[in-house]
Amino acid sequence: MTQTKVKTLKNYIGGEWIEAKSDKTEEVYNPATGEVIAHVPISSEEDVNNGVQVAAEAFQEWKEVPVPKRARILFKFQQILVDRWDELAEIITIENGKSFKEAQGEVQRGIENVEFAAGAPSLMMGDNLPSISTGLESGTYRYPIGVIGGITPFNFPMMVPAWMFPMAIVTGNTFVLKPSERTPLLANRLAELLEEAGLPKGVFNIVHGAHDVVNGLLDHRDVAAISFVGSQPVAEYVYKRGTDNLKRVQALSGAKNHSIVLRDADLDNATTQIVSAAFGSAGERCMAASVVAVEDDIADEFIDLLKQKANELKIGNGLDEDVFLGPVIRDNHKEWTLSYIETGEGEGAKLVRDGRNDEAAKREGYFVGPTIFDQVTTEMKIWQDEIFAPILSIVRVKDLNSAIAVTNKSRFANGACIFTNDGGAVRQFRETIDAGMLGVNIGVPAPMAFFPFSGWKDSFYGDLHANGKDGLAFYTRQKVITTRWV
Ligand code: NAD
Repeated sequence: MTQTKVKTLKNYIGGEWIEAKSDKTEEVYNPATGEVIAHVPISSEEDVNNGVQVAAEAFQEWKEVPVPKRARILFKFQQILVDRWDELAEIITIENGKSFKEAQGEVQRGIENVEFAAGAPSLMMGDNLPSISTGLESGTYRYPIGVIGGITPFNFPMMVPAWMFPMAIVTGNTFVLKPSERTPLLANRLAELLEEAGLPKGVFNIVHGAHDVVNGLLDHRDVAAISFVGSQPVAEYVYKRGTDNLKRVQALSGAKNHSIVLRDADLDNATTQIVSAAFGSAGERCMAASVVAVEDDIADEFIDLLKQKANELKIGNGLDEDVFLGPVIRDNHKEWTLSYIETGEGEGAKLVRDGRNDEAAKREGYFVGPTIFDQVTTEMKIWQDEIFAPILSIVRVKDLNSAIAVTNKSRFANGACIFTNDGGAVRQFRETIDAGMLGVNIGVPAPMAFFPFSGWKDSFYGDLHANGKDGLAFYTRQKVITTRWV
């Protein structure tokens, strides 16, 4: 693609494609080839104000639309997404780099969110008690809260926005999305498809850009709530600035997910699951397996098997057949990843598989092969930091107690998994581990749309998580009416 053919994306405000007022843009790359595939506007505060104003005006009418009618638009949208499944997955692979199969899985996750939100007529029902006292009754009614600002990361350009806008709009709110400037293409396609589904103008809007747009949303008095998903420092910043401005904020943050492998585990299953969880999407998942605490007496056998399976993974452009491991998102993220491999070596961890040596890592595109460190300790940066890349650290432990103690030292607490057939061990793990999303004998315990995505500690700031009943509660407020008829 030549530079002249590369288009500059537009913002989507009030159902129109509008050029950003700011003339600043950034390049969007296909990380598998390094090719520039679009320019994304780095919009200004003026663009944000325009988007929020339109969304605030649209809210006045949209909140009055009966819930079943709003849900019907989502039913139609769901069918459109199903029909366009592969087209959407291809956009995801091109802008993010993950394999086409993973991208198809991401589209599925997005569709599931739309399906869950389409149940709004049941979900929004209130409670009532006909006799709170003699002749007195009470009941609750649920209402939208206004304009919602959604700020999303690069790693799930479809699923993460879909954690937010379907539930937000079906409950009667209007929405301004600020997609990741590194993967902004899919969002624009979603806007076109929402329009095709019959969504009225102004209910869903997109303002592309970076921190100026985020700050604009955080400071705007007409934005009632902020849903954020991204890295820890930004999540903390967004949560503090948003709540300081008296907004409702949910900020899903970074992670460092731990797996525990006990000596009775089915090692074939454990290694298959962990290889997939550590290296799928090039480790760029908030639920990626990044540390394994393994009982010392099975550690050698476990690592041999892990290495063998990692060696079998096909690395390359996610659109090519059978590719499992695509590139990381940018050249500077590749440099960051390589610097962590050097750090791990410098800290004294044992490099048992070096992703720098894979053939693909020397090609164009931002590839790093599966990398495995053994003999990692909790003092090392490679254990502490979220690297967000295909690097797996192994900590040798003497038993379950020490595995849990090691895991609980992490400041992050998104997901944690255990591999064992011992029910007592599973119970102990469940009761004592610090993490919000647990898995037993599976690699990635990412909950489905009807359960909350429930990180703990520095993996989440706020009260109500994304998805499930938490998502419904986050985007609504209640009235309680108490009535005497006699
Ligand atoms: P990021 O924090 O760099 O960006 C997220 C969003 O914040 C983007 O829209 C970006 O434009 C904006 N942003 C970035 N820097 C900003 C700043 N200084 N001020 C204001 N806004 C800013 O995250 P990313 O690299 O796009 O995504 C990867 C991160 O997201 C990882 O840390 C991953 O764990 C996390 N993540 C978490 C979850 C979860 O459920 N907890 C899910 C997906 C991703």
